[in-house]
Amino acid sequence: MITPVALSPEEIALRAELRADVEKLAGEIGERNTACYGRLNAAAHFIVNSLGRAGLQPRRDTYELQRRACHNIETEIRGTRPEILLIGAHYDSVLGSPGANDNATGVAALLALARRFAARPTSKTLRFVAFVNEEPPYFLSEQMGSFVYASRCKARSDYISAMISLETIGYFSDAPHSQNYPVPGLGAFYPTVGNFIGFVSDLSSRALLRQFLVLFRRHAKIPSEGAALPSFIPGVSWSDQWSFWQYGYPGIMITDTAPFRYPHYHSAIDTPDKLDYDRFALVVSGIESALVDLAGVAR
Ligand SMILES: [Zn+2]
Repeated sequence: MITPVALSPEEIALRAELRADVEKLAGEIGERNTACYGRLNAAAHFIVNSLGRAGLQPRRDTYELQRRACHNIETEIRGTRPEILLIGAHYDSVLGSPGANDNATGVAALLALARRFAARPTSKTLRFVAFVNEEPPYFLSEQMGSFVYASRCKARSDYISAMISLETIGYFSDAPHSQNYPVPGLGAFYPTVGNFIGFVSDLSSRALLRQFLVLFRRHAKIPSEGAALPSFIPGVSWSDQWSFWQYGYPGIMITDTAPFRYPHYHSAIDTPDKLDYDRFALVVSGIESALVDLAGVAR
């Protein structure tokens, strides 16, 4: 059940980019993780090439896991200030799934944002990082790509004032009771229709959460909800922002809430045809505008 939304010409172009990159990752490449190591590397190769074509200089930040090289992929748009806004998305998919929503959507959004910021002067530095090995068996462990990456940031004393994790952002529904919650009672305070984009953090990142949500709502044409919750509530820590929290960096997750809404979560039929590219494009254009304000990017 889908309500039509109105897109600007820029958003129509963005929608086409997002769809093409989701189809590449989840359709053509498909399942990508260390059990399908060749396809994991094909995804890494695609991300490196995409960033290079945007005029950026991507770099593989590599670590070894069971004698295999695993690559986080980073690129930076230097600002006039050392302060870094880090936008991240994991590019692996869970075992047995092509991972269209989880998380080809996050990677497609990351690539689209990197293209849009590539040639623009900025005050704060923008860093884009595609993370490997977010899903089990590495999930919330020291072997997670983002955990290794965040530990290296800490060792170098990188000044990261915000980590923004793009996690499963392409599914929306207007059906009654299409939105569920990890804790009974949250549905009394939040919508029961899954037509919004969610912003989630732990309690210590709540100031960043509020700041980002205010900026997003200033521009975005899609409903949004924010929740700063204790990290033990199921779902709150379930992506790469968790890794940055472990090293004291503020982080938030932007998500359609994944298992609490999406019927095909972590399944073999999490395929590109399940997504709502109109509203996915509205989410990404809203994030772009919020980042322009937060980073001080030239318009
Ligand atoms: Zn995910």
